[in-house]
Amino acid sequence: MRSHESIHADLAAGRTTVESVVTECLASIERQRSLNAFLSVFHEEAVSQARAVDKKVSAGTAGPLAGMVVSIKDVICVKGHRATCGSKILENFVAPYDATVVARLKDADAVIVGKCNMDEFAMGSSTENSAFGRVHLPQDVSRIPGGSSGGSAVSVRAGMATTSLGTDTGGSIRQPAAFTGVVGLKPTYGRVSRYGLIAFASSFDSIGPFGSTVHDVASVLQVIAGKDPNDATSSDVPVPDYRMAMTGNVKGLRIGLPKEYYGDGLDPHVRKAVEVQVEKLRKQGAVISEVSLPHTEYTIAAYYILATAEASSNLARYDGARYGFRSKNAGNLTDMYVASRSEGFGAEVKRRIMLGTYVLSAGYYDAYYRKGQKVRRLIKNDFANVFKSVDCLITPTAPTTAFRAGEKTDDPLQMYLSDIYTVSANLAGIPGISLPCGNDPEGLPIGIQVLGKEFDEATVLRVAHALETP
Ligand code: GLN
Repeated sequence: MRSHESIHADLAAGRTTVESVVTECLASIERQRSLNAFLSVFHEEAVSQARAVDKKVSAGTAGPLAGMVVSIKDVICVKGHRATCGSKILENFVAPYDATVVARLKDADAVIVGKCNMDEFAMGSSTENSAFGRVHLPQDVSRIPGGSSGGSAVSVRAGMATTSLGTDTGGSIRQPAAFTGVVGLKPTYGRVSRYGLIAFASSFDSIGPFGSTVHDVASVLQVIAGKDPNDATSSDVPVPDYRMAMTGNVKGLRIGLPKEYYGDGLDPHVRKAVEVQVEKLRKQGAVISEVSLPHTEYTIAAYYILATAEASSNLARYDGARYGFRSKNAGNLTDMYVASRSEGFGAEVKRRIMLGTYVLSAGYYDAYYRKGQKVRRLIKNDFANVFKSVDCLITPTAPTTAFRAGEKTDDPLQMYLSDIYTVSANLAGIPGISLPCGNDPEGLPIGIQVLGKEFDEATVLRVAHALETP
C-alpha cells in the first residue's frame, strides 16, 4: 500500500514517474494473481495512459490525480472493456461508454489499471458469489476479504492499485474495507453520479472510493462528486473542498455512540478497539454521548425486502435477448428466457430475484413491500432525530473480523448479518466511512465506522482523519 499523497509528492519532486508507478502496480497484480482480485487488467492501455500523464507532468499541466492508479469494480462501465458484474450472464458484455465516475477520473489524470472481482451483481458480503471464483484475503488466504467489493479492497490492500471504486448498497464498500484494513467511503445517496453503473437496488446503490488513507479517498470523492446531467438522481448540492475539512481538530465536535450498535453479537476485540479510538477523540476535546436508534433491529429485514424487490425488477432486463449470455438449450422464445436466466445467474442472485418477486406480488405487497417502505422511513427518522443533538456517529463497521471461506455460505441469514452495522446508512441515504483501527489477536484488521448527516461528507472525513492520525 502506498498513498497517492506520497506518490504525488514524489512526482512533483521528480523522484518518480507515473509510468513506473503503473508498472509497479501491474507487476503486483501479476505476482498476486492467486488472490483473484482482478477480472481484467489493462496492461498496454494503462502504460500508454501513464506515459501521456508523464508528459503533462513535465509540462506542468497534469490534473489533481496524476500518479493515482485506480482499479474499478466490474459493475461500473469502462468503455471498450468487459463489465461482467461477476456474472456468467454478462461474461462477454463490453461497455459501450465510460461511466461518469470513470470519465471524471480520467479527466483528472488518474490511470485505470483494470476491473475488480466482486460478488455477482454486488449481492454478497464475502466475494464468494462471483461466477469467476472467490477472492482471497491477502493476510490469510483461507479467509474472505468481505464483499461485495472484495476485489477492490484487496487491490488497494495488496498494492495492485492506489485507490479503487466500489459500490455500496448495504455495506459493500465499508465492510470489505474493514476486513482488509483499508479506508472505504460510501457517499450520501445522490452525491456521486451512477451513470454507467449497472443497477442492483436503485434507491440504495452508491459509488465510492477505497484508499490507503482518508486523504486519498477524499481526493477521489472531490473529483467524482457532483451533479451529472446523465443521472437524474445525482444532486446539485454544491461540492465543498473536502481536503480543507481534514483539519485534525475535533474539539467541541459532538459524537454519538448508538447503543444498539454495541450490543449482543459484537466481537469483544472489535468493541475494545473501537472504544480505544473513542477515548482518543474524547481526549482531543470531542463531546461523546450515548444515543439511541430505536428501529435498528428492523434494518436487515427492511433492507432484504426492499433491496430484493428492486433487484428483481432491475435484473429483469437480462433475458438472453438483449444482453450477454443466451442459452443454447431452448427451442422457443419462452424457453430461451427461462433457460438463459436459469443457466446465467448464480444461486444467490436467483434467491434475491425470487424473494423480490414474492414481496412485490399481489396479496403480499402490503404485508412486505409497503411495510418495508414504512420501516425505512422510521429508520431514516431515527437518524434525523439523533443528528439534532450530535454531528456524527461512531460504530464498529462489522460485528467480527474477516471470517473463513465457506463459513457462512450455507446460511444466507448469517451472511446477511455481517452487514448489520452498515445497511442502515443505505436505508437512510447518509454517508459513512470505514477505516482501520487495529487488529484482533489473530492479526486480522478491525474497522471503525463514522456516519454523518446527508451531504456532510466533510465532517465524516474530518473525524476519520483525526482517528487515523496516531
Ligand atoms: N451484503 C449486502 C447484500 O448482499 C450488501 C451488498 C452491497 O452493498 N452491494 O446485499
